Amino acid sequence: MNGKCTCGPSTGMRSVFGSAYAVLVFLPLAVIMMTSAWDRQDDHGKLTSALVLIFYSVLTLQPVLAARLKALDRQFGLDIVYVFHKTMGMIAALLQICALAFFLADPSGHVPKPAWLGTLLIIMLGLSAFLYRELGLTYESWRRLHNVLFAAVFPAAFLQAWGIVSRMDSLPLAGIIVLQAVVAAAAYAYHRFLGPAKRRKTLYRVKSVSAEARNVWTLTFEPRENRERFDFLPGQFQFVTFDQGKGEEHPFTISSSPRDADGHSATIKGSGDFTKTIGMVKPGDLVGIQAAFGRFSHLLEPGEDRLVFIAGGIGITPFMSMLRYMRDTGEDREVLLFYANRSEEDMAFRRELDGIAALAAPRLRVVHVLDAPGQEWQGERGRIDLPLIEKYAHDFRTPLFYLCGPPPMMNALAAMLIDAGVPAKRIRTERFAL
Ligand SMILES: Cc1cc2nc3c(=O)[nH]c(=O)nc-3n(C[C@H](O)[C@H](O)[C@H](O)COP(=O)(O)OP(=O)(O)OC[C@H]3O[C@@H](n4cnc5c(N)ncnc54)[C@H](O)[C@@H]3O)c2cc1C
Repeated sequence: MNGKCTCGPSTGMRSVFGSAYAVLVFLPLAVIMMTSAWDRQDDHGKLTSALVLIFYSVLTLQPVLAARLKALDRQFGLDIVYVFHKTMGMIAALLQICALAFFLADPSGHVPKPAWLGTLLIIMLGLSAFLYRELGLTYESWRRLHNVLFAAVFPAAFLQAWGIVSRMDSLPLAGIIVLQAVVAAAAYAYHRFLGPAKRRKTLYRVKSVSAEARNVWTLTFEPRENRERFDFLPGQFQFVTFDQGKGEEHPFTISSSPRDADGHSATIKGSGDFTKTIGMVKPGDLVGIQAAFGRFSHLLEPGEDRLVFIAGGIGITPFMSMLRYMRDTGEDREVLLFYANRSEEDMAFRRELDGIAALAAPRLRVVHVLDAPGQEWQGERGRIDLPLIEKYAHDFRTPLFYLCGPPPMMNALAAMLIDAGVPAKRIRTERFAL
């Protein structure tokens, strides 16, 4: 529990994962192309088989990508893995629609029933992912629907692929298709049932609930029965499942320092239908926790001495964890924190930040920026922009930037910094949306 980084990404490992993914996607096709039955098909048949098999392989890898595997998070970050999952979902839908079009164009006029069903279900999966709000669904109910639709589309995809196996009469292809189904089912079962069941056996207790600022609360958690807490890097996040691990699951940054022996915390702003009720959580309540994820941590950049943190509102949480860790370990880095809020009542951790800024290490300077301050406010006003950054950060193209806040603010700042000559690879971002 020391927050020491032993788990950085490596280009080699990333290439291994990328190549493994490509191999798995094309494996059934490669196997079938080596059979004599493949050569007996006309071009139309070959293309249809290829589409069906690639679609099936992409679909079987979707639950693996969604399963929050630590090895993938370590190399790419869970946010990137989820973006890839969404992109491959769209590609899968396109492949299935093309496969159906090819079946329809087949001179025999035979369209297998699983092709119709698979297309209908994958279109519903795609539309619900993009339009769940317009359909009046909450994120949670959309997620449940997403899981049910996947469980329905998968057998259709299997039967469609099995149709190719039967036509080609290929035992190796049959073996691969079944193996892919087993891997997909195992990943799905682990993510949906086994993982949550395991976490319900190792619940955490809410130790305290305290108001941090207007509409912001800090919840501190401790493991039950003298169990060890998980290890994490400052800046990483956790998934918290309320109501004894049976209720809604939400991602929250761990706002405490890994060195804090009194438990770990989440600082949460009431912003939506669930988080608005967070102040009603009581000490003693039990929650399930899955942690730790993410690559938004200064510890992954040991050689960087000058850091600029830019936080908007509740986006302060990963920075609190990093700064608390620097305080606890006496880490001597130069940190300039810009912290934007609407008004003074919205500023969380103000006194604690002042305390850290008064220390010799880290060398922290905090610049509060208020959008709608009171008359007596002496500090910066308005929005964080380039002139403001230049005012406080000498030679602002050299430090490493970390941004966390509302998406419009982050997008505008990242674009502004890049336009001003800061290389994109020197800007780290954490988005509070997966
Ligand atoms: C990596 C990460 C770290 C975060 N850290 C913090 C933090 O430290 N403090 C904080 O206050 N908030 C944090 N959030 C945001 C927090 O997870 C959402 O505000 C919260 O889940 C919204 O739930 P809601 O039902 O109240 O709001 P809603 O209005 O229902 O949802 C608002 C948006 O939040 C997202 N969301 C909602 N429910 C979920 C869910 N179950 N799982 C994933 N995303 C969901 C969706 O993008 C949705 O559009 C973080 C999010 C991420 C991804």
